[in-house]
This record gives sequence, C-alpha cells and structure tokens, in this order.
Amino acid sequence: MTYVLAFDQGTTSSRSLIFDGDGAVVSIAQNEFDQIFPQAGWVEHDPAEIWSSQITTATQALQKAGLSAKDIAAVGITNQRETTIIWDRVTGEPIHNAIVWQDRRTSERCSRIRASHGEFIRRRTGLEVDAYFSASKIAWLLENVANARERAGAGELAFGTVDSWLVWNLTDGRLHITDVSNASRTLLFNIHSLDWDQELLDIFGVPRALLPNVRSSSEIYGEVETPNHLHGIPIAGIAGDQQAALFGQACFDPGATKNTYGTGCFMLQNIGKRPVESKHRLLTTVGWKIGGKTEYALEGSVFIGGAVIQWLRDSLGIIASAAEIEALAASVHDNGGVYFVPAFAGLGTPYWDQDARGTIIGLTRGTGRAHIARAALEAIAFQSADLLDAMHADSGKYLTELRVDGGATANSLLMQVQADLLQIRVVCSRTTETTALGVAYLAGLAGDVWSSTNDLAKHWQAGDRYEPKMNEGQAKGLRSRWQDAVERSLDWAR
Ligand code: ADP
Repeated sequence: MTYVLAFDQGTTSSRSLIFDGDGAVVSIAQNEFDQIFPQAGWVEHDPAEIWSSQITTATQALQKAGLSAKDIAAVGITNQRETTIIWDRVTGEPIHNAIVWQDRRTSERCSRIRASHGEFIRRRTGLEVDAYFSASKIAWLLENVANARERAGAGELAFGTVDSWLVWNLTDGRLHITDVSNASRTLLFNIHSLDWDQELLDIFGVPRALLPNVRSSSEIYGEVETPNHLHGIPIAGIAGDQQAALFGQACFDPGATKNTYGTGCFMLQNIGKRPVESKHRLLTTVGWKIGGKTEYALEGSVFIGGAVIQWLRDSLGIIASAAEIEALAASVHDNGGVYFVPAFAGLGTPYWDQDARGTIIGLTRGTGRAHIARAALEAIAFQSADLLDAMHADSGKYLTELRVDGGATANSLLMQVQADLLQIRVVCSRTTETTALGVAYLAGLAGDVWSSTNDLAKHWQAGDRYEPKMNEGQAKGLRSRWQDAVERSLDWAR
C-alpha cells in the first residue's frame, strides 16, 4: 500500500493528513497556533511556529497511522494563501512575523494604487488591488524593517507565501519555490505569461531578487531533508487552499464549481485553459498547472460566512454553540421579513466595498431571536447565491449542481436554503477533507500513486444532496428583498 502525506497549513491551525491509494483518510493530526494582533486591523503569525506546528502534526499523523517516511510516496503542501514571510537566505531567520492575509495595514496604500493602476493590474493579475494580497505586505516589510530594502536589493533576503516557507525549511534552504496557484495571489504575477511581471514589481517597489521560482502544482520538486524522520519523502504537490479544494472536489472540467462554507465562503469555478476576465468583479486566478497544462478559475469570496454564526454566539449570545443555530432558525418557518447583511468587514465579491457596514432590517414587534438566527443563516446562502450569479453572468453557463464543503455544510437547513435560492442541486462531498485531499491528489499524480484526473474523478463520492423545494417565484422574491438590504449596507458607507 502506498500513502500520500498532505500538509494543510491553515490560518488558525496546521494539520497533517495521510491518505491511502483510494483517497481515504488514514490519520489526521492538528495543532493550533497563536494569532498575533499587534494593533487594530493587524494580524500576524510567528513563522517559526507555523513550521514547528506543521512538523509536529506530520510526526503525529505518521505515528497514529503506524507508518514511517519510507511508506510515504509523496508529500503535498496546501496553505493559507497570500500570507507573507521574508527571511534571510543565509540564516533562514525571518526578518519579521508573517503578515496574514486578513491584515489591513496596507489598505490606504492599496486604495492609492488602485486609483492609479487598478485596471492595468486587474488585466495582468486577475485580482483587485487590495491589502488582502501579498504585494503591499512585501512593500510594507521592505519599508518598515531596518535595512530590509537594501538587503533585498542585494539578494540577501527571500520572500515566500507559506508554501515557499515550508519547502525552504523542509529542504534546508535548497529550494526557494512556489507554485502557480500561490504565485497568482501576490499581485506580482502575470497570469497570462505565468511569470513575475517587471511592471507590477515596479509599481509595488519589489525587487525581483526576493522572489521564489514558480513551478507547476504537481511535479517532484525535491526531497525532504529536515526533519530526519521525514527524510527522503518526495515533495510533489503545492497549491493554495481554495484551488486545492477545487481539485479535491474533482472539479476538473470547465464549469464545475465548488463553494466552501467556513469562516468566509469561497466559490471557485473551473474555467479551463484561458484566463477569462470577469465583468462582474470576480477574481481570475490560476487553478493549477499539471504537466505543462494550466487551468484557470474564477473566484468569489464572502468575507463573513460562518463567522456570522460565531458573532451570534460570541457577541449577541443568542446561541451557545454554532450547532444550535439550526434548531433555532428552524423553529420559525420563515425569516418573518428580517434580512441581515453581515458586512462587518465591508463586502467582498461583487462589491469590493471595504466601507460597507452590517444591516439588520425588517424588524417588527413580532421579531424574535429565531428570526435573527434565520436571517443570519440565510445571509450565508444569499451571499453565496450572489457569487454564483456573477459566475453565471461571466461564463454564460448555467450549472445544474454546486459541490460544497466546509464546516457550515453540517447545517442541513442552510444547505436546503442554498438549493432553494439557487434553484439547483447542492451536493456535499462525502469527505470533509477536500482541501488536503486536493493537494494529496496533486502530489500523488506526480508521485505515480494515481495516473490521471480520470482516475481521481472515480474516487469522488457524494454525501448529502439537497434539491430545490421552493418555487422559482418565491426564490426571486426573497433575493430581491435581500438585494434591497444590501443596498442599505452600501449606502451607509456613502
Ligand atoms: P475555517 O476552515 O474557515 O476555520 P470551518 O470549515 O472549520 O472554517 O467552519 C467553521 C465555520 O463554520 C465557523 O464560522 C462556524 O461558525 C461555522 N459553523 C460550524 N458549524 C455550523 C453549523 N452547524 N451551522 C452554521 N455554521 C456552522
């Protein structure tokens, strides 16, 4: 039996999973690490802790499975995207904490660059100029860490997203690489030529000497050197978390779409071999590159997805756990005219308005906590429906099914509401581990565990399915009221 190890390095925890040749999970280990909040709006991680927590979980996953390095055909790495680390090429020491994708310290700089170069940058990178992506974080580090700019120009420093950082450490500094999917989230990468772009580097003031080599998402890059008990495992797959989840959901054909319901929601649609530019403010991103062939995806994101449920729990206190939301929301048969736009951190796709603020509207004397709970749950589905509309409008293709994953898919009321609003079938994948599985697939393809995506597509298994029960007219009515509520959230900022 051959096994594949997946590193799933997330925003709040590092995890390692071992999969067998059928793509079934053999063991899992997880380790949370510290979130560092130096100021309002700033979020950092300690790169040493990212590394040590990742390796600890790999060790534990092997122990739990009773396996050793020689049983592992390949390791794949999937990671929180955009998070930025710069380190010294000689000592391997980071010059600063990692600046996490959520960090907003560079918002103003991004607003200025968007005003002068937004269109140009969108065409080259497929992205909006936003603090979310790596480029402005790199610029901040070069300006705010003593001597960093001179050292970067002299080639003494290395930049990487978390995948690069892990590979560098796994190979004792021999490999400074990333893959196309992670590179495409930096704002420095030309998604047409698949290379770093000098004009973009000039706009953000980033020297090329800092940057990793960009490789495909599935190839044998090298072997693990450190730690000793993982020595010799081929490193064979790298992909950002959302692209990995698209791959793990076996969305291999153009049009295939998945939505992940976690803290936020991320919807990605495979658009095939050409990077179509969105007319509806979706991002165009590289999905993966395998054997010289690149496939692209459209991506839309909802900033506050499952997080609205956490807010009901932690700030309003109307539920004690996320799981309680379903029974509470189901205790009323509809939202009672209440709409809740959780624009706590602005609105993402298709608005990209960082000043929008949350709205609860339609309250009456008869409104109770159950209506608020229901409206919050529906908000997750309404926002996701807006993403799929944008994808429909861009691609002109109408889906018959949406594949879903993530923690909030445990909520069957939410999934039913989603099917009702979209008027298409919603299908959960049987495994909840689509992100890790996706990168295990990428690594296993290069490591000869699997031969082709056709081989992999056979593994994919549906879990729960939800068919629309509401009629089209009712769904349209609800969505139009939702749209009115969104306008209020946008207006508040103006
Ligand atoms: P992430 O990977 O972003 O940490 P997960 O996939 O673990 O997220 O999902 C956690 C999110 O799902 C949390 O925001 C939580 O509030 C939400 N969630 C968990 N269980 C439920 C539920 N039964 N109903 C609705 N939301 C839920």
